Amino acid sequence: MIGTQALDWAIGGWTKGMQDKRILVVGAGIAGLSSALMLAKNGNDVMVIDAQDNWEITGAGLTISGPSFRAIEALGILSDVMNLGHTHPGIKVHDTNGHHLKTLISPSIAAQNGDPLPGAGGILRSTLHGILLKHLSRLGIQVQMGLKCTSITQDALTPDASARARVRFSDQRTLDFDAVVVGEGLYSNSRHLLWPQTPSPTFTGQACWRVVLARPQSVDHRFFFLGGTVKVGLTPVSNEHMYLFLLESIPQNAHRKTAELHVILKHLLSEFSGELSQVRQAINAQSHIVYRPLESHFLSDSWSTGCVVLVGDAAHATTPQLASGAGMAMEDGIVLSEEFLSAKDAKEAFRRYYLRRSNRCKMVVQNSLQIGQLELERASAVEQAQLVESSLAQLAAPY
Ligand SMILES: Cc1cc2nc3c(=O)[nH]c(=O)nc-3n(C[C@H](O)[C@H](O)[C@H](O)COP(=O)(O)OP(=O)(O)OC[C@H]3O[C@@H](n4cnc5c(N)ncnc54)[C@H](O)[C@@H]3O)c2cc1C
Repeated sequence: MIGTQALDWAIGGWTKGMQDKRILVVGAGIAGLSSALMLAKNGNDVMVIDAQDNWEITGAGLTISGPSFRAIEALGILSDVMNLGHTHPGIKVHDTNGHHLKTLISPSIAAQNGDPLPGAGGILRSTLHGILLKHLSRLGIQVQMGLKCTSITQDALTPDASARARVRFSDQRTLDFDAVVVGEGLYSNSRHLLWPQTPSPTFTGQACWRVVLARPQSVDHRFFFLGGTVKVGLTPVSNEHMYLFLLESIPQNAHRKTAELHVILKHLLSEFSGELSQVRQAINAQSHIVYRPLESHFLSDSWSTGCVVLVGDAAHATTPQLASGAGMAMEDGIVLSEEFLSAKDAKEAFRRYYLRRSNRCKMVVQNSLQIGQLELERASAVEQAQLVESSLAQLAAPY
């Protein structure tokens, strides 16, 4: 039996390293891939699975904040992100007629060599994913697609014994691991199984619309268009592309038919003139529009049980107001691997990881919700900007 498992691992892309811990990463989103990359770099044997049969990276582009660039550097992917994404000094704020009101320069954080990192940027989600996969592949790790874990069991432990998890997979295999890292996202099934009392994610009263479009050269910063009934922005994600995001207040977590999305989005944009009226013209039935009612959740007590731990949205799912959810997911992977390197066992590593991460991630979730609430109340742009600035200043502190 053990011999067959070893063969499976060899086929599945195990690497053998100094730390020699067998780690399963469940979910190949930004949190799972970042964790896998850092744990493998530190010499662990890492296996990564994802429930999807093929990659379907939804959600258009990502805005990258200054603190997220620091995490990107720590992951060792900065030059790829800078080459394939877009960096810019900050945000140009406009009114609903497209008149430029002011430019906010995003403060940058120092790189490891002391040079300033970019203060702001953007990248297509699929591009970031591709970069993380490329770096994992260099370590000999391929994601096994179309695979879920159906159960995770752990032995009853004596205080001095190290934990091990026995995982049953959807292809009927059963394998043992020293640690399981769950990065299954907002609707994590493993979280539901392991923390059955956890409430479901909460709908926030807003929906976010996103669509990737050709980038006119004039969109050389992040653009905000304020003062309308909806909040709209453009983020450059490459030399050629940008994405539009639009935040709308909706009374309930409403489903909308895919075929109607472009009509509704164009209607929502109709109160804007200037740059956005040209953007509006570019949207049609073929546009790949991602519409998503916003939900949020934060697991407050602990993010691990025995040698199983949650990372990313599975533990702390934020709304997009601070554009920092992906940054938090990357930082999770970095901190987890640091603690794994120095702790005596997975349990201790996960406890220390939680202590380093929980307040920071909670601040992102709570302040994003609070900014969303200000948007719903149509509070002044000054009030909203103050909370964004103070939150980003907190995020600039070391993690
Ligand atoms: C509208 C919106 C806009 C956002 N914009 C930004 C932004 O501009 N910048 C930013 O930094 N953050 C942003 N965020 C937050 C960011 O998208 C998330 O925080 C981040 O993607 C979380 O990554 P994750 O890996 O935890 O989860 P996910 O990206 O959800 O990945 C989870 C993965 O797990 C897999 N999976 C799920 N269940 C299983 C299972 N049972 N078995 C195996 N695999 C499974 C899924 O297929 C998926 O690949 C935004 C969020 C929203 C909602």
